[in-house]
Amino acid sequence: MKLLVVGGGIAGASVAYFASQHGHTVTLLDAGGNRSSDVPAALLNPVRGQSGKVEALALDGLRCTFALIRELKGAGHAIPHAQSGVLRPVPDAKTQRKWATNLPAELPHSWREPDGLPPGWHSTLHLPEGGWVSGAALVEALKAASGARLVRGQAQHVSATGAVLVGGETLSADAVVCCGGSFGASLSQPDGATHRAGSLLLLSDAPDQPRSYGAYLSPAATGGVLGATFEAPAASHAEALAQGLPLKSLDWLLGKGAALADLRVVSVTGRWTGVRLSPLRHGPDAAGVWHLSGLGSKGFLLGPLLARGLVGGIEAKARKG
Ligand SMILES: Cc1cc2nc3c(=O)[nH]c(=O)nc-3n(C[C@H](O)[C@H](O)[C@H](O)COP(=O)(O)OP(=O)(O)OC[C@H]3O[C@@H](n4cnc5c(N)ncnc54)[C@H](O)[C@@H]3O)c2cc1C
Repeated sequence: MKLLVVGGGIAGASVAYFASQHGHTVTLLDAGGNRSSDVPAALLNPVRGQSGKVEALALDGLRCTFALIRELKGAGHAIPHAQSGVLRPVPDAKTQRKWATNLPAELPHSWREPDGLPPGWHSTLHLPEGGWVSGAALVEALKAASGARLVRGQAQHVSATGAVLVGGETLSADAVVCCGGSFGASLSQPDGATHRAGSLLLLSDAPDQPRSYGAYLSPAATGGVLGATFEAPAASHAEALAQGLPLKSLDWLLGKGAALADLRVVSVTGRWTGVRLSPLRHGPDAAGVWHLSGLGSKGFLLGPLLARGLVGGIEAKARKG
């Protein structure tokens, strides 16, 4: 089958990879730039936010992404990452009890003393299968390993059998998958979507094991990161990016970071800003175009798993005719 994938972030690159593994011929069209998947260090953490919720697919997603990283590493691709475990400190016994009720028995975890953390924490949830990955490196490895034909250009219209690019060129295929993220939201989310900018500070150093409560502190390919802010929801990618990094958000981030580690000896070496898109759209639309869009803050946790399922769905539909 000939597949056209629009968008080369973690969603599109994963679709391209799994489709080519199944023997399909893939063209990957990407506009270049505005890619949230370039996040310098994405946390792979199944226990979410300050609510401690665990999504049904979180453990499968975590295992799928790390299996993929190992597979690509085995094939010679360099992907800065570590499955070093993730620490989730909690401030009080009530939060620990609340989180504990969310934790599925099949998710490996243990509660520990908050040793090595600044004072003030009640205890720490240790998630041994968690870790971090360099977003851009994983995406580039997937693209290279997929052997997809890479086309630079921007789709302005898509149908079940192809795309028309800005400039008028057309690309045709047996199936089309839209993975345009926040920048390409109009392809997949015509009824409106939420775009939320977030910034990370790039640091000269970070603890070896990622830790997260409100914000996260993680190693990266070089040094570490402290992230991420959540700016007000916006109606478009451009509107979200225009918010920049407000001082109020920076203040919040530094406060959260200082609660996770002593940052007085660390330097800020830069900043990275991207935009999260929601809601999740996964599957075919009424016109027969497939979508994997709106991965929010969980692109690396769930993207590869959902991409694998989507390729299976495309094949099942083709068999039915
Ligand atoms: C600050 C921040 C921190 C984050 N931290 C984490 C984390 O710790 N863990 C985690 O799992 N996730 C994290 N995320 C979320 C994750 O980065 C996103 O969910 C994920 O990158 C979205 O991937 P995507 O492939 O859907 O979109 P993108 O990565 O944005 O890729 C879309 C691509 O499509 C292209 N495109 C768009 N429109 C068109 C078009 N019309 N034609 C051709 N090409 C087009 C774009 O140029 C782009 O290259 C974070 C996000 C942010 C912003």
